[in-house]
Amino acid sequence: MKKFGWLILLGSQFAIVAGFWSYDHVNHMMGNQLTGDAVGQYLAYGRLAGLLAVLGILFQLMLIGRIKWLEQAFGLDRMAHLHHFTGFAIVVFLAAHPFLVTTGHSMQSGMSRIDQYIDFCRNWDDVLAAVIGVAIMSASIFFSILVMRKWVKYEIWYYSHLTLYVAVALVFGHQFEVGTDLVGNRLFSGYWYALYAFVFANLIHYRILRPIIFYMRHRFAVDKLVSETGDVTSVYIEGRGMEFFPVEAGQFMIVRFWAKGFRWEAHPFSMSIRPDGRKIRLSIKASGDFTRRIPGLKPGTPVFIDGPHGIFTSASCSSSKVLLIAGGIGITPIRALAEEMSAAGRDVILIYANRSRSSIVFEKELDELVEKSKGNLKIVHVLSDDPEWAGEKGRLDKEKISRFVPDIPEREVFLCGPPMMMKLVRASLSELNVPKARIHFEKFAL
Ligand SMILES: Cc1cc2nc3c(=O)[nH]c(=O)nc-3n(C[C@H](O)[C@H](O)[C@H](O)COP(=O)(O)OP(=O)(O)OC[C@H]3O[C@@H](n4cnc5c(N)ncnc54)[C@H](O)[C@@H]3O)c2cc1C
Repeated sequence: MKKFGWLILLGSQFAIVAGFWSYDHVNHMMGNQLTGDAVGQYLAYGRLAGLLAVLGILFQLMLIGRIKWLEQAFGLDRMAHLHHFTGFAIVVFLAAHPFLVTTGHSMQSGMSRIDQYIDFCRNWDDVLAAVIGVAIMSASIFFSILVMRKWVKYEIWYYSHLTLYVAVALVFGHQFEVGTDLVGNRLFSGYWYALYAFVFANLIHYRILRPIIFYMRHRFAVDKLVSETGDVTSVYIEGRGMEFFPVEAGQFMIVRFWAKGFRWEAHPFSMSIRPDGRKIRLSIKASGDFTRRIPGLKPGTPVFIDGPHGIFTSASCSSSKVLLIAGGIGITPIRALAEEMSAAGRDVILIYANRSRSSIVFEKELDELVEKSKGNLKIVHVLSDDPEWAGEKGRLDKEKISRFVPDIPEREVFLCGPPMMMKLVRASLSELNVPKARIHFEKFAL
């Protein structure tokens, strides 16, 4: 219901804009522009494209704003996914707006499209700034394609993406200087200002102020590092009043270690223990430039935490029987959930897939959890590439899941692991008739 309500609210912004736009153009002083001559229609639809492009960009900012109230309804990963998708759709409006408006005006003035465009840039207030803004936006979207294909480093893309804020500022002015809809309609321009103010207030609060407020309140700092397996290190973080830090098992946070070589990057990591009101534990696999440096962190390093985030928690589980499935480092949120759910008396089966025994993270801890659970937690390890292993071998597939979990239809499933494994497991679960609504998953990609 919450989700539905927010969808209506967000969707209605598009309806409001379309409403203002059609009112202005139907009641235009030169007559109805929507049914009038070609010039009027080019200009009208060009303006609509511009309005939708800006609305889309504001919507994009909300999607990546890590805005708590939105995230609780949709989940950050889904919002990030939608953000990638919507970014490409906005390109269409960004291209259509100057094309249609230039065409309309060139028909009116008798200039060629190119001359008209140059005239806009030279003589119309704030249009040159807007053109530069659109160029930055287009370049940034192009960069996103490169990063999706892993042709450029994530950080380069991240910092290039920050220029989008400059681009948004550059296109802002021309809307109020030459945007006929906004100039001529005070109600519409009031709404437009309010929309900007609302989006930026949320962004500034959730992306900038909240981590600073949390830091001031808790003074998070690295307490100690513990090596788990060859390439996984647990970072223990302590602070003041940790019992008031509102994290749940299964959630993640975006952390910035305030030390030389770390402070320019913030990365997401999941809690790998059930919150105990005293500490945070993040267990980090060395998988790239940043994570490889983690063992070099020094105790006492201040930590800025953006979060906690995520709806991969027991609050979203209504069943007393649960199947947890983890692959590799995907065990971090799953381990926290196993600890919490078994302690709460749920009947939990955990299937943990790895390549070899040496890559099992928390093997001893997991055994201890089973012992403590009074029969609530069972664990099956499946190894794909370990000739010495006497237990279950091979890939996790439909046959194995139904053998380990004969009562699968009664269970809600929580899944986290490498993308390919998650895809295959979700397909197996679907073949086993587990409804989608009963499968919760966390992707380690935003
Ligand atoms: C919700 C979530 C929870 C996670 N939990 C854990 C965990 O508990 N333990 C763990 O070891 N790993 C976890 N990860 C993965 C971890 O964030 C990445 O492995 C890490 O950011 C890689 O950084 P790198 O520079 O070392 O590697 P790179 O080789 O630079 O990056 C590898 C990939 O990681 C992603 N990535 C890199 N930097 C960022 C960033 N700043 N923000 C988002 N994604 C980024 C990109 O997809 C990139 O292609 C989690 C990821 C997400 C999204």
